[in-house]
Amino acid sequence: MMFCVKCGVEATTFDGLCMDCFLDGKQLASLPRYVDLERCASCEEFHVGHQWLRKETEEAAKDAAENKLAVIPGMRVISVGMLVTEQDERNFQVNVDVEGELSGNIVTALADTVVRIKNNVCQRCSRQLGNYYEATLQIRSGTKELSDNIRDETVRYVRDRIENMGSVNRQIFLTKVEEVQGGVDMLLSSISLGKALAKELADMYGAETKEAAKLIGKTNDGNDMYRLTYLVRMPEYHLGDVVIHNGRPYKLTGISKGNGRLIGLQDLHETSIRRSDMHSLKVHTKKSDLMKATVVSRSEGEAQILHPLNYSTIDIRVPADAVIGDSVDVADVDDTIFFVP
Ligand SMILES: [Zn+2]
Ligand SMILES: [Zn+2]
Repeated sequence: MMFCVKCGVEATTFDGLCMDCFLDGKQLASLPRYVDLERCASCEEFHVGHQWLRKETEEAAKDAAENKLAVIPGMRVISVGMLVTEQDERNFQVNVDVEGELSGNIVTALADTVVRIKNNVCQRCSRQLGNYYEATLQIRSGTKELSDNIRDETVRYVRDRIENMGSVNRQIFLTKVEEVQGGVDMLLSSISLGKALAKELADMYGAETKEAAKLIGKTNDGNDMYRLTYLVRMPEYHLGDVVIHNGRPYKLTGISKGNGRLIGLQDLHETSIRRSDMHSLKVHTKKSDLMKATVVSRSEGEAQILHPLNYSTIDIRVPADAVIGDSVDVADVDDTIFFVP
């Protein structure tokens, strides 16, 4: 124990002073008068710490203030309370209330600042607006023009995937979708994204892929910089199509990494075919070109439908749950009408 040089009390001293005299008039916590908070003018995310984040404005203002909060050396912060008051849409008063521990004493302190919102553009938006891309995903057909269906379906798939992945990884975005002769090109923010999406599409559609790299320059640190092109060549067949396999009609019901699944139209039995053999499938009727026929009566195991072209009544195999009045998909293969499950 020592005596305080200021008030004379006998106490543990700091710089010769008792705790009360030491704290008297001292600012334990401080904030700059103004704290600037960057907001992306394009996506409206906030730059807090070292990253851009989607946040409520008041939450972002609190974080910005807390990042600039300073306390005197030796003080350990226990808790920080904050009150945000909007002055106008760009200026937020933040009052901070700090509780801490200093040499075994619980101390409290107040500080305040005004957080000012400044417009800027985050790196992702500036790259996107500047048409930055590292990879091109080219969707093409193996034979002729890419069908509108497949084009729309793949573009939608890619958009959904990128929206999903982009919500957790800011390096991921879609720069542009361009319809080109024979298909569609999608410009992507990263090479790994292009590689991943090409593989996913290949697995989903039984497509073939090819990649090509092109040197486009040097990075700032002198490394070669490449752009990658991933060509995804869609097969002629598509899920739901009626195809001819070994001379018989089937519906293509599934495609996976290793094989395709077929259901025979003659006996409604399922079978599979190796992916490497799928190139031999001949598309007979695209799913979108299947005809509709109405069930007019039914008997054990069979039903009678109206022939979709000449309206005669014909017997076909239909599923057990088909009822009179149902409209079912049918295909005409060599003048025989088949139910397509
Ligand atoms: Zn004292
Ligand atoms: Zn942005």
